[in-house]
Amino acid sequence: MKRKGICFVCACTQEDGCPEGCSWANLKQTLCTSCEPLSAIERMQKRDRALDDLANRLDLLDSLREKLLVRRQVAADEPARVRTGGRKRGKKKPMTLDKVKELAELFTNAARIARG
Ligand SMILES: [Zn+2]
Ligand SMILES: [Zn+2]
Repeated sequence: MKRKGICFVCACTQEDGCPEGCSWANLKQTLCTSCEPLSAIERMQKRDRALDDLANRLDLLDSLREKLLVRRQVAADEPARVRTGGRKRGKKKPMTLDKVKELAELFTNAARIARG
C-alpha cells in the first residue's frame, strides 16, 4: 500500500533517499523522482487492478441479484403464509435477523474483495 513519505516503488524515504539522490515527484510523497518514469507502468497496473476490481464488483452484483431473486421468491410465498397463518405482529423480528445476516455476508464479501 502507498504510504506518505515512502516511495511506493523503491521504498526510499525522506531520510533515506535513493543513492543517486531523489526528491518527491508528487505532493502525496509516495513517488520519488528516480522512480517517476516507472509510475507509467504502475498506472497501467492500476488500470488492470481497476478492471479486476470491476470484475469482482460484477461478481458481487451477481450474488446480490441471486439474493434478490431468493428474496422475491420468499416475498411471493409470503401472502399465502399470511393468509393461512393470519397476521401476527411479532413477525418482524426474524426478518430483521435475516437482514443482519445478509449484511454480515455482504461485509464478508466486501472484505474478501478488499483483500484481493
Ligand atoms: Zn523511488
Ligand atoms: Zn528515491
